[in-house]
Amino acid sequence: MSSKEVLAEAGRRRTFAVISHPDAGKSTLTEALALHAKVIAEAGAVHGKAGRKSTVSDWMEMEKARGISVSSTALQFNYRSEESDDDVVNVINLVDTPGHSDFSEDTYRVLTAVDAAVMLIDAAKGLEPQTLKLFQVCRHRGIPVITVINKWDRPGRTPLELLDEIDERIGLTPTPLFWPVGIAGDFRGLLRRGEDGAPVEYVKFTRTAGGARIAPEDRLSPGEAEEREGETWTEAVEESELLSASGQDHDQEMFLAGQTSPVIFASAMLNFGVRQILDTLVALAPPPRARLDVNDTPRNVDDPFSAVVFKVQAGMDTAHRDRLAFMRVVSGVFERGMVVTHAQTGKPFATKYALTVFGRERSTVENAYPGDVVGLVNATALAPGHTLYVDRKVEFPPIPSFAPEHFSILRAESASKYKQFRKAVDQLDSEGVVQILRNDIRGDASPVMAAVGPMQFEVVAARMKAEYNVEPRMEPLGYALARRTDAASVDELNRQRGVEVFTRSDGVLLALVSDKWRLQYLRKELPELTLEPLVAAA
Ligand code: GDP
Repeated sequence: MSSKEVLAEAGRRRTFAVISHPDAGKSTLTEALALHAKVIAEAGAVHGKAGRKSTVSDWMEMEKARGISVSSTALQFNYRSEESDDDVVNVINLVDTPGHSDFSEDTYRVLTAVDAAVMLIDAAKGLEPQTLKLFQVCRHRGIPVITVINKWDRPGRTPLELLDEIDERIGLTPTPLFWPVGIAGDFRGLLRRGEDGAPVEYVKFTRTAGGARIAPEDRLSPGEAEEREGETWTEAVEESELLSASGQDHDQEMFLAGQTSPVIFASAMLNFGVRQILDTLVALAPPPRARLDVNDTPRNVDDPFSAVVFKVQAGMDTAHRDRLAFMRVVSGVFERGMVVTHAQTGKPFATKYALTVFGRERSTVENAYPGDVVGLVNATALAPGHTLYVDRKVEFPPIPSFAPEHFSILRAESASKYKQFRKAVDQLDSEGVVQILRNDIRGDASPVMAAVGPMQFEVVAARMKAEYNVEPRMEPLGYALARRTDAASVDELNRQRGVEVFTRSDGVLLALVSDKWRLQYLRKELPELTLEPLVAAA
């Protein structure tokens, strides 16, 4: 394939994730987006929340019991924007993120694989803790953010209040592309904002039963809108013009620089505003671009094939018990069956079994282009952050691991199961399910698990049982903080109360500390010791 063709394939792709607090409507929006792209005939086939169709994305019993989504998957669909003049059919890659905050580390990894994020906010709740954390990760990585204010069909705050909150609390200037006609709870449609906030058109929505079908739209002129909606319309126009007076208009450069965020009001449940979200992604979100390698040399999208692994997942489905490594294509063309090099080991890796996976739906991938996500089956050597390439060697920077705050000793149930236990620990460690810490005092038989959220421990227990037939014993360890230290500080630290030093499997020395007061004490009394913060989970 010529470089021009690869650039064209990359150019029509948009790869993004939705960041939100649980319950803001991510699953509902995912369904609605898929519905708009007509991958599913009726909303409900993807996530199957209560009362709708069967569940697709849940993969573990635990997950079902809790009704949360632990796994990350990717949904790909074609979409033709009605707003664009050319005939391009876009390819949208929606990378799913786990909703529960205990799995935020997985979510951070997912964010290394996307080019843009949709920040989904509940109109009644505004910015919530998990949204804030994830937004900080986007900011840190320079990922442009499109804001969607959801549940506008329900009573909530005023639109101006919500915008102020975004501006004041996270310093992101909201620049609405559309303005709601009707207050929260009385969602009639969207005013498309033009120059100086003047209305360009009115998109009036009609409800469908249960929001299961695409909501019909009437596109009216401002004159017709005023006739139809009267004062409600005039109020929307006034507010829209007010925004322009305070400089809240879209500016593509500022958006790409992460300083402003286009805003859309929507109701994922009623399918209102969903087309507008897709059209905005197509029009404004950046296509895949060059990525810097460990030497800061860009790997251009039309360079030979390369990809980064951002997620490893196993036991997704009892019907196919396997291990999938998800990679995002960075450059070139991926062809199923091609032999790629695993940068970390220098070993060849055959890609005969390459899949796209969304929930339980799997299909074989023949080709993939920059921005696409491909699941590689039984790729045991691959771990998050690893690089695959052909022809010209490249290695991308590792994904930072986050500061753990929960610690637990892990032991095999009996000596006879030790071999299996050891295998399971190594596997789950390499997948990044938890961080594994060891030291000479405790020995190999009782490593320590370190996690960002305690639910990660339950995943370990469930997977050890299901995949290795071992029932590990776990015992919480009374530490609350981890700091990076060095060899020169180890002995002195180990002599202190409330501190213990471990080696993480990537070789980093971690001092676990019982609480922040102990840490303050150590800093003050023994300032010569190294105790550096790790990348915080925001
Ligand atoms: P997630 O946890 O972010 O995936 O949220 P869900 O998609 O599961 O939605 C949480 C709850 O909010 C569910 O009961 C949804 O039906 C409801 N919900 C989602 N979007 C909307 C919306 O636009 N309007 C209303 N009224 N409810 C919504």
